[in-house]
Amino acid sequence: MSNYEILIKKLSSASTCLIVVSKMQELEKVLSIYNKGNKIFAENKPQELVLKYNALPKDIEWHMIGHLQKNKVKLIAPFVRMIHSIDSFELAQTVNKYAELNHRKIEILLQIKLSKEESKQGFEYPTLIESLKCYSWASLAHISVRGIMGMGSLSDKEEVTRQEFRQLKKYFIDLKNMYFNNENFTEISMGMSNDYQIALEEGSTMLRLGSIIFQDK
Ligand SMILES: *Cc1c(COP(=O)(O)O)cnc(C)c1O
Repeated sequence: MSNYEILIKKLSSASTCLIVVSKMQELEKVLSIYNKGNKIFAENKPQELVLKYNALPKDIEWHMIGHLQKNKVKLIAPFVRMIHSIDSFELAQTVNKYAELNHRKIEILLQIKLSKEESKQGFEYPTLIESLKCYSWASLAHISVRGIMGMGSLSDKEEVTRQEFRQLKKYFIDLKNMYFNNENFTEISMGMSNDYQIALEEGSTMLRLGSIIFQDK
């Protein structure tokens, strides 16, 4: 069995969705996973997302998972299903604007910083709370806030990663109680190839997996 098939089997009894991260993979390789039945793929760069969208079957649901600059939103707004990496109100406003221009609604996740590592994007949690208090998120009618996203630190200490994912789940519950008490706010996007087992145990609803799937021959 391929890693893809092993994962699908493992997830069949869980309510966690698999998002296959196709970044830096050749089209044939992505197509071979598509042909095994996967319809949800993600990229971390807007230009690459557009390239793959144009080249691959149109029933694929595309997710954007990497840092997104405001001036790139218009490239992906015509087709992107979900953006995991919303890290400011201004970015959410821009996504809302281009969703409206395309007569669409775009699903988003609020990315929250989990570790102190400088390279990690996302809201600091207190900044997110301020933003939710001070800006009119509810007026953005062309986005749907579906939940939150976080990345574990690169630490190879299992306990460090576990605490980070546990914290993210707590943030999710608090945000749902305080600001998003609705049926759309359901997703916790956490877990990559090196830490997805921990993410599953800590309540992930979306795994973003790349290398573990594409390392198959
Ligand atoms: C690359 C990437 C992933 C997948 O990483 P793997 O280790 O290859 O599974 C997940 N999330 C984000 C934001 C990424 O950039």
